This record gives sequence, C-alpha cells and structure tokens, in this order.
Amino acid sequence: MSAVAQVIDVSAAAETEQELTDGFHLVIDALKLNDIDTIYGVPGIPITDLGRMAQAEGIRVVSFRHEQNAGNAAAIAGFLTKKPGVCLTVSAPGFLNGLTALANATTNCFPMILISGSSEREIVDLQQGDYEEMDQLAIAKPLCKAAFRVLHAADIGIGVARAIRAAVSGRPGGVYLDLPAKLFSQVMDADAGAKSLVKVIDAAPAQLPSPSAVTRALDVLKSAKKPLIILGKGAAYAQADAEIRSFIETSGIPFLPMSMAKGLLPDNHPLSAGAARSTVLKDSDVVVLVGARLNWLLSHGKGKTWGDAPKKFIQIDIEPKEMDSNVEIAAPLVGDIGSVIEALNEGIKTGWKAPAAEWIDAINARKEVNIGKMAQRLLKNSTPMDFHSALGALKQVIKERPDAILVNEGANTLDLARGVIDMYQPRKRLDVGTWGVMGIGMGFAIGAAVETGKPVLAVEGDSAFGFSGMEVETICRYNLPVCVVIFNNNGIYRGTDTDPTGRDPGTTVFVADSRYDKMMEAFGGVGVHVTTPDELKRAVDEAMDSGKPTLINAVIDPAAGSESGNIGSLNPQSVVKKK
Ligand code: ADP
Ligand code: MG
Repeated sequence: MSAVAQVIDVSAAAETEQELTDGFHLVIDALKLNDIDTIYGVPGIPITDLGRMAQAEGIRVVSFRHEQNAGNAAAIAGFLTKKPGVCLTVSAPGFLNGLTALANATTNCFPMILISGSSEREIVDLQQGDYEEMDQLAIAKPLCKAAFRVLHAADIGIGVARAIRAAVSGRPGGVYLDLPAKLFSQVMDADAGAKSLVKVIDAAPAQLPSPSAVTRALDVLKSAKKPLIILGKGAAYAQADAEIRSFIETSGIPFLPMSMAKGLLPDNHPLSAGAARSTVLKDSDVVVLVGARLNWLLSHGKGKTWGDAPKKFIQIDIEPKEMDSNVEIAAPLVGDIGSVIEALNEGIKTGWKAPAAEWIDAINARKEVNIGKMAQRLLKNSTPMDFHSALGALKQVIKERPDAILVNEGANTLDLARGVIDMYQPRKRLDVGTWGVMGIGMGFAIGAAVETGKPVLAVEGDSAFGFSGMEVETICRYNLPVCVVIFNNNGIYRGTDTDPTGRDPGTTVFVADSRYDKMMEAFGGVGVHVTTPDELKRAVDEAMDSGKPTLINAVIDPAAGSESGNIGSLNPQSVVKKK
C-alpha cells in the first residue's frame, strides 16, 4: 500500500488524521539532525522549494550566482569546520558547474557534499530526452570520493548519513548525493520518516598509529642530524594545533609550512624555516611530512629542489595509499594527525636531543639574508605599484589583524603574496590549493565569512577575480565583511601582450585601466581606486574596521608580472619560429 493510500484509509477510519512527511522535509530533517546548519547553492528546478523550506526551518541558505562558487564556499566550509560543507544545485548544467568544485574539494581533501536534483531515472536511462537529462551519478563517480543516489523517501536518512561519513572519515573528500525530482514529493508517514533518519555517530573516528610504526619513526628521527618538519594543509585541517606546536617546540626541529598550513605556528616563529625554504629542502637529512603530500608542490620529493644529500622521509597521513607515492617512505605513520603527533610527543619525552646548533644556525643565517632582501623590495614606493610594494602594505594589515582570513589567488599575486604576507594563526590562509586552480576567490571568501564571522581579505589577481567576480553581488546581498583587493595589472601575468597581426587584443590582456571598484558600487558596496601602498593600506584598514563589503582596485604596473608567476617551468613554450 502506498503512503498516500494509507492516509486516505486512516482518515476514513478515524477522525485523527495521520501525520505525513515528504522527501523535502526528510532531507532537511536529516541534515539538521546531523548539525548541518548551512547550505550553499543556486536555486532552480527541482530544488527551489528545498532551499526555501530549509531556510524556513532555520538552516542558513546562501544563494550564489554560479554553482561553482557555491561549491567552493561549501568546500572551504568543510576545511574550516571539519564538517562536510553542503552545496545544493539544480540538474545537469547546475550539477556540472558544482562538480568542478566537488572535484577540487576531493583533490584538496576537503569534506564536502554536493546535493543535486536530477531528472527522472526512467526517462534518463532510456535517453528519452527529459528536461536537463543527464546520468549525473555516473558522471560524478570518478570525480569524487563517493557517490550515492536515493530513490525512496524512506532511504533519505541512510543516504545523508552515508554521504556525511564518506566525506569526513579517513582522508576527507567530496561526496555526490543524487536526488531525483520525484523523491522530493514522495510522501510517507511522519513517525516512520522520523525513525528512518540516522544521526551519524563518530563520523571521523580517531585512527591511532600502530606502536611499532611510532617506534620506527622515532628511531629514524633520532638518527637525524638535520631534521625538518613540513606542515601541510592536512595538519591545518586536523585542528591538532596545540599538539603540533608542542611537538615542534619540544623537539626543536625547524618547520616549513605549505601555503595553507601557514600560521599553524606563526611565520615569525624562531623555528620557522619558511624564509630558508630552498636551503632546508636541499640540506635536510630526515623530513617529517605532516599532512602534506609529496606532489608537484614539493617537486615530488626528488630532483634539484631536494639536493643530492641522502634523505629519509617520515610521513604522517591518514591515507595508507599515500605512502611511497613518489619516493620511498622510511617510516610511514598511518593515522590521524592528532593521534600520531600525540604518540610522537609521548615518544620524545625521554631520550630526545635537540638538533645540533650548526643546523639551526645555518638556517637562521639564510633566513636573515632572505628576509633582508625581501624587506628592501617591500619598501620600494614605486609608481605605479609593483607586486612587492602593494604586498608590503597588505603584509602590515595582516600583522595588525592576525585573526582576519586571507584568501589569495592569481599567478604573481598568489606566488608573491604567499612569500610576503606572514600568517600568525591556524587556518587563516585559504588559497588555490593542490591544483593551483583559479576561481576559488569569492566562493572561499563567502564561505569563510559565513562560517567564521571574521573579516576576510581576498587578494586577487585581476584575471583570477574574473572567474567568480559576479559573486560581489552575493557579498553585498548578505552584507558580508569581505574586502576584495584586485591587483589590476591589465591582464593575465602581465598587461602588455599584443596581437602580432594587429587585429585583436593580445590573448592575455584585458581592458586597460578597468575600474573593478565600480562593480562593488553597483550593488551598494564600497568601491575604492588606489595607486599607492599608503592609499591601499588606508582603504583596507577602513574596510576591515567597517566590515562593509568593499572592493579595492589596486593599480599595478602592467609590466611587473612574470609569465605564469613562479611556475613558468610548467608552461611549455614553442621554440619553433615560423618564418
Ligand atoms: P599541502 O598541499 O598543504 O602539502 P596536501 O593536500 O598535499 O597538503 O596533503 C594533505 C594530506 O593530509 C593528505 O594526504 C590527506 O590524506 C592528509 N590528511 C588530511 N586530514 C588528515 C588527518 N586528520 N590526519 C592525517 N592526515 C590527514
Ligand atoms: Mg593580472
């Protein structure tokens, strides 16, 4: 007997009407039961009512202008909170737009759930041409950690529970949850519906390293003459801040933060080797990787960057398959970072000797030279500004406001800001991550502002900003404390390219002297146009004090950037000259 038939029977038999629920309510109840309090998305068929009803039920629903940005907001919410960020999209094209963010979240190990409405299975599977027809589950599967579809209202509780657990347990990642349109209006008995919901217990269980793996790692570590700890964004994600700090300070081992691990310990910490990066990578003999993969961002653990000195790696990661992915790992420590570091802290309580003074002195000497060189460049008050003089101003802003969140993307804008702007607190630097992808800017900024309530400073290349720029309307609509600074050098890398035939603009240039600040004004926010470091500093301070949505158009010398920023070597260039 169907649920609808049941209710008719019951009402006919008795005065008391049976209480009903439906797919819409069950999805919302399942999310709420699991403390999911925010949804990022773009409304439309078939999930318009789901968003409305979720809002009415007290969930914060943040509507974007494009799904990719909503997805990026959800992904960064996952990184910041260790709860899966939820993104809600319409079928086919909306789903595909969100999928880019889901794939990026998975690559970065951020927990996220993309919930997408979809067309009817019967029509999709026979390829009969439904509205926005697409086999979304099949398309999502290879691009995320797990993918599920729910066909019956009674299974919504299980579907949501599986999605949450898959997103946050083990190595976190993106999960796709496919909800066909028909599911939402399926009706069932309210009590049975409530009973079908699942509260996920211990969604990301602690994973303790085996004692023998800990002993092995400690033996390798104790044999080191020039040890180095590399902190990755997994370490930032783990929220084991105190344990990590204690491990570094007690052991006296210098540390190098990957970009999103900056601030886990302050960049001006005496043991930070950030300003001596090339030296420590080359000269270290034992390297402890804490939630950092030996991927392209670390030159795969080999080659020139790592020098000729023999090296042993100790790797801490929750994902066993990560071990030996690029080079041999002498001591794999598989477990969650909090538990592993706790075990190491226990292990160095006795018989630990701090690294030799020569190693620390060599690092400090290199740091002093590099920091001195940098300081010179930052002070230059050139007109128009170059990247360094503009970044000098922003470095000061973050120093004075260490709890602000810095979002950063671009080519030169990214590479140089990463080195110049010191971070002082964990999880305050959000950037392009593992793929080095453009387009995360406004999504991350909105997600960070919504999740933390802290002021956000988004430092954007003019090109990078373009991928998510329309979301300044979203920032204004929700009145978020976001200050966007655009490093406007008239183009991608530089603003000086030309079309040799003279027909069109060069392929990497934009309209010269654009006024991005006017975009913010169009939606009621504050727009400022600046040309000097002093003006820039003043404008950012004002924005951060007021908390008003602000966009600062910072004019940068179009000739200042270099091709592909710091990763020019990855950009193939033709050597064949056509006559
Ligand atoms: P980065 O780019 O900063 O070097 P990566 O994204 O390459 O960082 O590496 C992050 C690593 O952290 C991933 O291999 C992931 O499996 C791991 N990780 C994430 N969360 C945890 C955790 N709680 N415990 C242990 N490892 C984790
Ligand atoms: Mg540019």
